[in-house]
Amino acid sequence: MTAFDADYIIVGAGSSGCVLANRLSADPSIRVLLIEAGGPDTSPWIRIPVGYFRTMHNPLLDWCYRTETDPGLNGRSLAWPRGKVLGGSSSINGLLYIRGQPQDYDGWRQLGNAGWSWDDVAPLFRRGEHQERGSSVHHGVGGALTVSDPRVSRPICDAWVQAAQAAGYPFNSDFNGAAQEGVGYYQMTARHGLRCSAATAFLHPIRGRPNLHVISHAHVQRLTFQGRRVTGLVWRDRAGAEHPIAAAAEVILSAGAIGSPHILMLSGVGDAAHLQEMEIPVTANVSGVGRNLQDHLQARLVFATHGPTLNDEVRSPWRKLAVALQFATTRRGPMAMAASLAAGFLRTAPHLETPDVQFHIQPWSADSPGEGVHPYSAFTASVCQLRPESRGDIRLRSPQAQDHPIIRPNYLATAGDQKTLVAGIRLARQIAKFSPLHERIRAELRPGLEAGDDAALLEWARQTATKIYHPAGTCKMGQDAESVVDERLKVRGVVGLRVADCAIMPNLVSGNTNAPAMMIAEKASDLILEDRRLGNDVF
Ligand SMILES: Cc1cc2nc3c(=O)[nH]c(=O)nc-3n(C[C@H](O)[C@H](O)[C@H](O)COP(=O)(O)OP(=O)(O)OC[C@H]3O[C@@H](n4cnc5c(N)ncnc54)[C@H](O)[C@@H]3O)c2cc1C
Repeated sequence: MTAFDADYIIVGAGSSGCVLANRLSADPSIRVLLIEAGGPDTSPWIRIPVGYFRTMHNPLLDWCYRTETDPGLNGRSLAWPRGKVLGGSSSINGLLYIRGQPQDYDGWRQLGNAGWSWDDVAPLFRRGEHQERGSSVHHGVGGALTVSDPRVSRPICDAWVQAAQAAGYPFNSDFNGAAQEGVGYYQMTARHGLRCSAATAFLHPIRGRPNLHVISHAHVQRLTFQGRRVTGLVWRDRAGAEHPIAAAAEVILSAGAIGSPHILMLSGVGDAAHLQEMEIPVTANVSGVGRNLQDHLQARLVFATHGPTLNDEVRSPWRKLAVALQFATTRRGPMAMAASLAAGFLRTAPHLETPDVQFHIQPWSADSPGEGVHPYSAFTASVCQLRPESRGDIRLRSPQAQDHPIIRPNYLATAGDQKTLVAGIRLARQIAKFSPLHERIRAELRPGLEAGDDAALLEWARQTATKIYHPAGTCKMGQDAESVVDERLKVRGVVGLRVADCAIMPNLVSGNTNAPAMMIAEKASDLILEDRRLGNDVF
C-alpha cells in the first residue's frame, strides 16, 4: 500500500488512535493510515512500569507542554506531559486502570448524546479487556488490553487502606466493578509485569496487516479541504519537508485533548474571531474548539514516617540494585509499580450520590511526580476532586503548527471546586488519625498542621497542587452551541472529519482517563463502520 491511497486517516497513535487503527483495519477491504508525530516505542523505559519517571519530561517521548501561569494556582505554570510516541500518553502514563462512574456516561447521554449511556459503553470497556482475574459481568477476557493486579505491595499503603476502613470507609476489591466507592488497590494496564500500552495491546500485534500503514515522526500541520469537505492533510517530516496526503473517506483526529483542537484551529475550524486574529482563513466557525478544558488537580499531602518508605529504598545504590535485580528476575517489586498502589473513591459529604474525590496513595514522596523523591522517609496521600466545575481553554499561540498552543487550565476557579478539594484534604487528614496508619506517621509535613482552617488549606493547595495528566473536553460532544462534535463524533460545520479521543468528553469522567480514551475509540470504530455499511461515508 502506498501512503496515498487510504480510506481513513487517523491522526495520533495514542490510546484512542491505536484502538481505532486496530478496529478499522480488521476489515481487509478498508485501507487505514495511522499518522504519529512521535517515534517508535522502543525505549525500555516505556516497557518498565516505573519508567514513567524517565519518560515524562523527556522531549524524545513527551510533547513537554507547559500551561500559562494560572491565577488559581497563585500564578504558577505547570508542566503538562503528553506522550509523543507510538502509544501516545498510554506509553508514558501511570498505568492505573479506572473506567469512571456509570453516572458519568449517563450524564453524557442526558446532554443529548444518544448511544453514550453507561449501558451503551460498558460492553465496549469489556470488549477490549483481558482481565487477569477472569471474566465476570463487569470484565472481559480475551481482549487485547491486559488488566492486572499490582505485583508489589508496601506496608505503608496497606496501613492506609486499613486505616481508611477503621475510619468507616468500605473496602472495595474492584473499582471497575459493581460500585466505585471505597478503598483498596488499583489495577493496572500491565502484562506479566510490563506496561501494556495501547500500542502494545492494539497496534503491534496487527502491524503486519497489508491494509494498515503507520507513519511515525510525522507531525500533522493542517487538514486540507475542498469547500467544507476534508480531503486529507499535510504532515511534516523531521527534516521539515511537508507531505500532502489524501483520505478517500474520512480523517479522524485522535491527537488528544491538546493536539486535536490544535490541529482543528490550525486548519481554520474554530472560533472565527480567534482564527482571524491569527490570520488563518476560516473554514468553519465552530466556537467551542479548544474551550471546555477540564483536568483533575491533585493536592499532595506528605506524611513523614517512622519506618523506611520507597524514598529510602531508591536512595541507597545497593537497595536500588536489589530492586533492579528483583524486577529483572521476577518482574515484581517497585519497578513493576504503577503510579499509585492504594486507592480511595470517597464522598466528602453524605448527601452525595457518588464519590467526589479520588485518592492516590504512593509509598514515596516528591514535590511533583518525576522530580526526584524527598531525602527522608515519607509517603504521599494525594487527593483530587473527581468532577471539576472549572473550565479552561486552549488557544493558538501562532498559526505555526510547531508552536505549542496556549494552555489555560483555570484550576480552582469555582467555589465548588475549592470547597471539594479542601474537604478532600481534610478527609486525608482524618484517615491519617486511624490505626494502623497513625502510629507509623511521625509528622504531617505537607500541608503541616499550621494550615488549620479552610482558607489556609486552600492557600496551600493553590501554592502546591499539581496536575494528574487528565486534560479533556476541548472538542466536546453535544448538541449545544459550544459543542464541537455530534454524538457520532462528526465535527460540526465540515464533512468527512471526526474527533475520537479525550477531547470529546463533555464532562471529565470520575477517574483516570486512559481506559475511557480507549472506550471512546471502540465506540468511534462502531460508528464509522456502521456509517460505512450504510453508505453514509460517501460524500
Ligand atoms: C504522565 C501521565 C500519567 C498518566 N497516568 C494515567 C494513569 O495512570 N491512568 C490513566 O487512566 N490515565 C493516565 N494518564 C492519562 C491517559 O494516559 C490519557 O488521558 C490518555 O492516554 C489520552 O489518550 P488520547 O488518545 O486522548 O491521547 P494520547 O494518548 O495523548 O494520544 C495522542 C497522540 O496524538 C499524537 N499527536 C498529537 N498531535 C499530533 C500531530 N499534530 N501530528 C501527529 N500526531 C499528533 C501524540 O503524539 C500522541 O501519540 C496519564 C497521562 C500522562 C501524560
